[in-house]
This record gives sequence, structure tokens and C-alpha cells, in this order.
Amino acid sequence: MVRMPMPPPAGRADLHNHTTASDGTLSPAEHVKWAASQGLAAVGITDHDTIAGWAEARAAAEEAGIDLVPGCELSTEVGKTEVHILAYYFDPTEPAMADLLRRMRGGRRRRAEEAVAKLHQLGYTEVSLERILARGGESVGRPHIAAELVELGVVRTIAEAFERFLARGRPAYVPRPKLEPAEAIAIVKGAGGVPVLAHPGLIGDDRRVRETIAAGVMGIEAYHTDHSDLQRQFYARWGLDAGLVVTGGTDSHGPRATRTIVPGTVSVSMDVVQQLKALSPWYRRTGGSLA
Ligand SMILES: [Zn+2]
Ligand SMILES: [Zn+2]
Repeated sequence: MVRMPMPPPAGRADLHNHTTASDGTLSPAEHVKWAASQGLAAVGITDHDTIAGWAEARAAAEEAGIDLVPGCELSTEVGKTEVHILAYYFDPTEPAMADLLRRMRGGRRRRAEEAVAKLHQLGYTEVSLERILARGGESVGRPHIAAELVELGVVRTIAEAFERFLARGRPAYVPRPKLEPAEAIAIVKGAGGVPVLAHPGLIGDDRRVRETIAAGVMGIEAYHTDHSDLQRQFYARWGLDAGLVVTGGTDSHGPRATRTIVPGTVSVSMDVVQQLKALSPWYRRTGGSLA
């Protein structure tokens, strides 16, 4: 048998998943188990603005014998365009990073409070902030408000809740706290982490992609559920040309009534996990220990 001198690590990794720590439907442990049952060798847990799922996910990953890639997803804005930044392998206790996560979560809570106040003014006084916060936990967001409106029978679907009330320009819309991509990227790097531009094809404006690369992201998520084959090839090529790590993941939010994306249906080789680890001063220093 002929052996390669340096075989790449075996297996596949899905680097983009959400749990009940933000707007997913499965607990971190359940989601990791689901990912492991799909034959993945590593799963990235990237809840919005929070690391609250890391410890539980890590324990479940160890039990399942797979690698946990700790991360989060930050929503930034340039003008009216949303740019999502995935952050991997950062030190969650680094003060500026911890402060950013607190600020973004505080913003989410304020946003929920203001949206509920607006719904009350519109006459929907049965909408309860407490129940929405119970749904959303640390990372409450518009999907939680929408789900509550569906349950109350105010609207029939999540989409209708957004169209009538929650989308930009609608009567219960509240803008999020301002965070620009360059600021998020700098803070993630300052915490020894690896910032990656999430789903560039969904931004809808490649000038923003170019600017975000110039602002210093270290990776680009070319492989994503909602990217076409052509987009995957295009952004993978762009990433390689720019010297970036080319990442990928499903963006699974767990089983949902509207759309269930199974972890691992988009994946990258474990070599990508090695590259992310190698780029993270925090990982190199701590071996990824969360203690
Ligand atoms: Zn996103
Ligand atoms: Zn996501």
C-alpha cells in the first residue's frame, strides 16, 4: 500500500450551525449529536452574538468523539447592507471581545423591548415580552417575536410577521446597534480569533465582499446552503486568490416547520479546521481549552 507522506486529517466539517443559544431549535448538545450522527468529524457552533452554547457543545462533542469548532456569528452593517462575520477560535474572556458580545446581546434585548412596545401601540397588547425572552434566551431576535405572533394568531406565518410588522420599514421594526465589519474583524483578531466573511453570495453586492476582504477577514464562507454551485466556485476561487481560508457550512438552525437543513449537507474537509486552528493565536496558546 502506498502512503501519502502527510495525509490530510480524515473526515468532513460543517462550520456553521445555530442552537437554542440563539435562534436554533435544538439545544447545543442535541445539535452536536445530530451533526455527529451525520458522520461529521467536526461541527462549528456559531450562535448569534453569544458563546453560551460552547461548554455544552464541547461536552457533547467529546462524548460523540467529534471535534467542536467554537465560534459565533456577528451581524454587521454597511449602510443598509448586512454583512455577517463568523468568528472562530477566539478568547471569549478577552475584554474587548466580551464587551462586544455583551453590547450586541444588550442591543438584541433592547430591540425586542422596543418592538413589543410598538406592537402594543398598534393594539396587539397580548404580545408578551416575557414570553418572547423565554423563547430567545440570551440571543433574542426578530424570529422569536415572529413565532410569538404566529402562536397568538396575529399572523399565520413567520414570513407574514416580517412582512407586516418586523421587516425594515414596517411598523414594529427597530434598528440594531451599529457595528461595522472592520470593527468586528479587528476585535475578533484582537481576541486571538479568526474572522470569516459569512455567506458572501447572500450580501448581494460584491463591492461589500471586496471591502470586507480589504478590512482583514482571514476566511470566506464559499460553501453555504443558499449559494448556487456557481457562487461556491466563484467565492472559493476569489478566496484562494486573496490568500483566505475557504470555509463552508450549512447554517442549520435545527429542525423547523418551514425549513430543515441537515448538518453536513454542506461541508468542507478537516484540513480547513486545521487551517483555522493554525491561524488562531488563542488556539495555539491554549489548545482550545475553554477552562
Ligand atoms: Zn448569517
Ligand atoms: Zn448563521
